[in-house]
Amino acid sequence: MKAWTLLTELGELKGFEEQLGVNRPRGNSYSRDFRGPNWLDLRKASAEYADHDPAVLVIGGGQSGLSIAARLKQLNVDTLIVDREKRIGDNWRKRYHALTLHNQVQVNHLPYMPFPPNWPTYIPKDKLANWFEAYVEAMELNFWTETEFEGGSYNEKEGRWTVTLRCADGSQRSMHPRHVVLATGVSGIPSVPDIPGLKDFAGKVMHSSQYDDGENWKGKRAIVIGTGNSGHDIAQDLHSSGAKVTLFQRSSTLVVSIEPSAQLVYAPYNEGTLEDNDLIVTSMPLKLARKSHALTAEKSKALDKELLDGLEGVGFKLDFGEDNTGWQFKYLTRGGGYYFNVGCSDLIVKGDIALKQFADLATFTATGAKMKSGETIAADLVVLATGYKRQEELVRKLFGEAVEKRVGTIWGFGEEQELRNMYRRTGQPGLWFIAGGLAQCRIGSKHLALQIKAIEEGLLPRGA
Ligand SMILES: Cc1cc2nc3c(=O)[nH]c(=O)nc-3n(C[C@H](O)[C@H](O)[C@H](O)COP(=O)(O)OP(=O)(O)OC[C@H]3O[C@@H](n4cnc5c(N)ncnc54)[C@H](O)[C@@H]3O)c2cc1C
Repeated sequence: MKAWTLLTELGELKGFEEQLGVNRPRGNSYSRDFRGPNWLDLRKASAEYADHDPAVLVIGGGQSGLSIAARLKQLNVDTLIVDREKRIGDNWRKRYHALTLHNQVQVNHLPYMPFPPNWPTYIPKDKLANWFEAYVEAMELNFWTETEFEGGSYNEKEGRWTVTLRCADGSQRSMHPRHVVLATGVSGIPSVPDIPGLKDFAGKVMHSSQYDDGENWKGKRAIVIGTGNSGHDIAQDLHSSGAKVTLFQRSSTLVVSIEPSAQLVYAPYNEGTLEDNDLIVTSMPLKLARKSHALTAEKSKALDKELLDGLEGVGFKLDFGEDNTGWQFKYLTRGGGYYFNVGCSDLIVKGDIALKQFADLATFTATGAKMKSGETIAADLVVLATGYKRQEELVRKLFGEAVEKRVGTIWGFGEEQELRNMYRRTGQPGLWFIAGGLAQCRIGSKHLALQIKAIEEGLLPRGA
């Protein structure tokens, strides 16, 4: 019998094991100091950073930031998360009204603290946001809200950063962490293509990141440009709020039904332990993973045949990812370009949401979109669901061109068959990246935390 593939991952550092379960910390019992600081006093002091700086500064307190901070906490690495939002969880709370997660609860647990067993299969955004608050409290994470990271520079000799934070009260705080982890999600810088005549449009124009609720657009006419998840979800939200919606498609899009098709890639998580499944996901060789995803994509295509035929029938341009590897590889290589159908495709097929090709647009005018055919689509609102600029742009903005060059391309598979610069050392010592869906953050945070710990303990060199 020959082995088909051997699955390995970085699991723990000998001598620096996490103190979990039977190895949990003892806390104070008999020997407590009745006059000394209690747990709450120590928690407060630890999060204040009045007289010291953290070893690791995490920028962004979404699932990426929480996962890495929780892992580092178990490894006794002093870590502070900063986020510009007012309240922990606002990164989810502020998304569109109807949002529930697209993948199922058993795939999405944060490290150490699984979602309760009575939780719904598809978690609503506000429930997840509130869980983030509970998680920060339960995992004792140091978290500064309303704190903007403005940028920093690295001192090679000292092996530490000088960074500037804009705090909630408007004051500036300079810090010198040895590591900065960017957990900022997508770059946050909207990507807005050059759209002819859009500046002449007299109605409201907004990027998808500014959209939160369709209620104000009841009875109005809306154009949504872009057919990824955001474009579809916003079109559907506007439609169900009573707006007349036209969706413009810019390029071919992969469409997959939320259930069962989109869930097929997570099938292993329906049995076995979370740890075993995470190991399989982590260590499956890329070539094999592509093959297995192509098989899954083929199955999805067959399951969704009626829907896909209907979409093609109304002129929707479909694709199935590079080499037909399906939605997950599109996400891993491009970060988007697909839609999980939760009903918008059906509305498009029925004609309840009109579909136009962007290539057929002549120009925008004050009143709406003028097509090359001469037809005019009147509108009060244009939503640009056109995605975000690449993370590299954010690196340049925060750290300058030299650091951007040192780091290079972020995301997508590199020569080593891993996502470039994610969850691993980058060309810039002390700068790390974490991003992705909840499962990716749970998995990636483990490896990233162990590498930072190994550097802190002198087991790995600082540089790449
Ligand atoms: C509509 C929608 C549905 C999705 N559905 C799913 C799903 O079902 N399952 C799934 O796993 N994934 C889903 N995703 C994808 C992904 O999980 C999310 O985008 C997720 O929010 C990424 O988490 P994150 O922590 O990396 O980034 P974010 O959630 O974007 O958090 C980044 C944080 O960084 C902060 N920040 C950024 N810059 C700075 C700065 N300079 N200073 C201070 N703070 C800063 C922001 O305020 C923000 O809170 C969905 C995404 C969208 C848009």
